[in-house]
Amino acid sequence: MKKLFIVGNWKSNKTALEAKNWLDAFKVNDLGITDKEIIICPPFTLLSSISLEVRSQKLEARIGAQDISPFDEGAYTGEINGKQIKEFGDYVLIGHSERRQYLKEDDEILNRKVIMAIKYNLIPIFCVQERNTVIPSGVRIVAYEPIWAIGTGNPDTPDNAEQVATAIKSSNKEITHILYGGSITSANTNSFTKMSQIDGVLVGGASLDSTEFLKIINNA
Ligand code: PEP
Repeated sequence: MKKLFIVGNWKSNKTALEAKNWLDAFKVNDLGITDKEIIICPPFTLLSSISLEVRSQKLEARIGAQDISPFDEGAYTGEINGKQIKEFGDYVLIGHSERRQYLKEDDEILNRKVIMAIKYNLIPIFCVQERNTVIPSGVRIVAYEPIWAIGTGNPDTPDNAEQVATAIKSSNKEITHILYGGSITSANTNSFTKMSQIDGVLVGGASLDSTEFLKIINNA
């Protein structure tokens, strides 16, 4: 059976109290999961507290950051580097369309971010918006997220996502896993995860509610 990745991207949401309430209701161990890697990506302000809580409660979940500095440690005001992230997590999202659009991140910056992630033993989950998006070398996990499907309630079709996943895997032999992202809910998750070339889902809005996120994990 293939291993599925279920990733929750909280984006720029949640205070410390809201995150605590989310985690208190997140009874993921009760699901008895064996073949799914659950990854929570909180904002940087919550990385430490969520990670410590996940460890102390021995929750079946891993932690990821939503971004990484393209620079190493040093005089880069405001940046959070790979060495700092690695204290708390194992994964990092790179190339999300919102960062490409609002922060003007381009292929060169994204390549440097992937290099920094790998240097610090973080696993990049690299977001692509279409089958021809440039993927830096060293990336193994890709999330296909068509821009028009993000936060719109209008997901891609599982058949089209499967075709894109197949095309990306066949043109890039380094890629081992392709996730789908864009308006995933507990009702549509399984229509994607049952496709043979889709290895999980990247969930934005629906991951903000721990009950809905648990249903997504259960239904995947
Ligand atoms: C995302 O931002 O990565 C995403 C998939 O968002 P949503 O699930 O809200 O469409």
